[in-house]
Amino acid sequence: MKHTVTLIPGDGIGPEVTGHMVRTIEASGAKVVFEIAEAGEKVMKKEGTPLPEYVLDSVKKNKTAIKGPITTPVGSGFRSINVALRQALDLYACLRPAKLYPGISSPYKDVDLVIVRENTEDLYAGIEFFKGTPEAKQVIDIVVELSKKNIREDSAVSIKPISVYGSERIIRFAYDYAVKDNRKRVTAVHKANIMKATDGLFLETARKLAKNYPSIRSDDCIVDNMCMQLVKKPQEYDILTAPNLYGDIISDLCAGLIGGLGIAPGANIGDKYALFEPVHGSAPKYAGMDKVNPTATISSGILMLRHLKEEKAADRIENALKEVFREGKVITYDLGGKASGSEFTDHLIKKMGQA
Ligand code: NAD
Repeated sequence: MKHTVTLIPGDGIGPEVTGHMVRTIEASGAKVVFEIAEAGEKVMKKEGTPLPEYVLDSVKKNKTAIKGPITTPVGSGFRSINVALRQALDLYACLRPAKLYPGISSPYKDVDLVIVRENTEDLYAGIEFFKGTPEAKQVIDIVVELSKKNIREDSAVSIKPISVYGSERIIRFAYDYAVKDNRKRVTAVHKANIMKATDGLFLETARKLAKNYPSIRSDDCIVDNMCMQLVKKPQEYDILTAPNLYGDIISDLCAGLIGGLGIAPGANIGDKYALFEPVHGSAPKYAGMDKVNPTATISSGILMLRHLKEEKAADRIENALKEVFREGKVITYDLGGKASGSEFTDHLIKKMGQA
């Protein structure tokens, strides 16, 4: 039986990197067909919304989706489609492996990290009050009264909710993944020394749940120190679990350790649906140039194939990727090469044929 998967090409470099991913998956022998559903700025012009209901319906029907990046206007304009999809489908776990392939130039060796980022709460909840609005004034008045602390009248306010429910399920996900993937250590990342209520709750939940997994080494690290530790000795860490914002920042840092954003894949997973996408954004300055590295999107496709139990096809692509990087001849600009995205993909597919 074929798996039907929703494909959201995205914008900027999205259509080209997802195109390379589709070609690779089709060549892998996986039993997958793609159902295209467009979202983002282009659709906004046609449909009046950047995330039409039929996109969500398609993902709900197929249960599995893969997407390219989608541009989010900065400061004003529509809210992030990426965040909206994660919230609407309750894709609470963001899984981002950061593994260094031999052959890729990096000051590090043996980096093999997995970031498990909470995907629905924290400062990403989208509860924001713009400066000067009656709502902002009301929120400020209430908070000043309750907290007995001053907030300047010309402030904007963003709310950071972190719940026991949200923390428990992401931390449990991190440990269950550690058990399944034979991992040795889970580190909870937080800033509980300063944000005692919210990050304090996340840390308290992590410490409580850690007791259920005695075979795994559990510890925690304050996010600023975590950044320094990751730059100095990333090989000492294994799984990092974090609230939404720190998880996002640390993901990009970890992408930098393994050769850059062109490499780093991701998965957004909930109890009902799963949506796969690279860590990187739409990199508009490279759009249409066939220049960027499609590996992050192809590797997100590998994660999707494993999710669909298409292990043989996933291994086939992964082994060919390893060979392409080991050889180091046909690689894109970000890794010091001259190949276009298409040339890289052609070479990868050729290697798959030889595997
Ligand atoms: P970005 O990740 O798009 O690009 C930052 C830089 O990383 C690029 O200029 C490029 O040098 C490098 N890069 C990114 N992808 C690469 C690839 N495949 N190969 C080689 N190099 C690559 O980040 P940004 O410029 O901050 O964001 C651009 C837009 O993307 C924004 O609108 C942002 O909101 C959006 N975004 C979307 C997602 C998503 O769809 N999930 C994620 C992050 C950012």
